[in-house]
Amino acid sequence: MTDTPTPSPDKPDTEIYERRESIVRSYSRAIPREFDKAQDVWMYDEQGGRYLDFLAGCSSLNYGHNHPVLKKALLEYIERDGVAHAMDLHTKAKAEFLTTFEKTILKPRDMDYRVMFTGPTGTNAVEAAIKLARKVTERTQIIAFTNGFHGMTLGALAATGNVKKRAGAGVSLSDVSHEPYDGYFGPDVDTADQLDQRLSDPSSGLDKPAAIILETVQGEGGLNACSNAWLRKIADIAKKHGALLILDDIQAGCGRMGTFFSFEEAGIKPDIVTQAKSLSGYGLPFAVALIKPELDIWSPAEHNGTFRGNNHAFVTATAALKEFWSDDKLAKDVQRRDKIMKDRMERSPKSTVWRPGAAA
Ligand SMILES: *Cc1c(COP(=O)(O)O)cnc(C)c1O
Repeated sequence: MTDTPTPSPDKPDTEIYERRESIVRSYSRAIPREFDKAQDVWMYDEQGGRYLDFLAGCSSLNYGHNHPVLKKALLEYIERDGVAHAMDLHTKAKAEFLTTFEKTILKPRDMDYRVMFTGPTGTNAVEAAIKLARKVTERTQIIAFTNGFHGMTLGALAATGNVKKRAGAGVSLSDVSHEPYDGYFGPDVDTADQLDQRLSDPSSGLDKPAAIILETVQGEGGLNACSNAWLRKIADIAKKHGALLILDDIQAGCGRMGTFFSFEEAGIKPDIVTQAKSLSGYGLPFAVALIKPELDIWSPAEHNGTFRGNNHAFVTATAALKEFWSDDKLAKDVQRRDKIMKDRMERSPKSTVWRPGAAA
């Protein structure tokens, strides 16, 4: 491995992928290199090229690749034969994660939530959230938003806007109404007021929803951010119409917005919060649905799965919480970088100035 910033011109041998890997693969088409090592923000290919990793696992690697503190915790755990898989049995690693999450995240934010360990990917957490909302409210309809992305399994896909993603379903994706997100019709139209009006009109044709699901910053949908005022309105609308508010914080959470949860500045307390991507801190699959205690009405095993609670991810997630969220150093640093980015972009004549609600 060398430190050359430019990739070598040698063509890597990608023949095995073309021969054996399903053509469903995507990112590797745009970047047909073969990566071997990764550290912090850098990835290295087999031909000696070094790459600044802007993909960052689609926000699964908020703390960088192979962070030494997380790596050490994981190596020590494996070395002492720590349990890797135990269904949903109690494990020391799980207890440490829950205790640390309670202490560093929930308590300081005055948040009271039960932690549901869903299957290991984000879409599993979304499925669980939607299913629970329907069970709690005994309603069917879900309200999602234009350009929203919530995952690729049928329930989450139904709540996803993108036509190409939806086309892959092969069955009808129903029981979700896709409403205009903040800024969809430009700055002069308040889409929250419109939603409230339609939900308040018994003849609008819009069924009362079990839940309103949304991202505060739409990741896959093109980095559209909603304003705090709009988000607060949506939270009020959900409450007013007896729907649960599901905040999908899978991509915008874990510090991406400068706070652990992306909605902290808005001051709302969603009924259910989904988290995945950077939650393990190490790129290990790990997802949760945070549920207000009074809504946690599952019967045991009503929603289960083989890989609920990845013990290796418990270990790295605990280490990440202790390392980055015991104080506000990381949060402050994200806010500092945010300011640098904004200042630079505002000075650049060619760029469109970012503002909440603007379509990217
Ligand atoms: C990535 C993502 C998901 C789905 O997570 P997977 O781990 O890919 O299943 C759901 N919601 C949002 C907002 C996401 O960014």
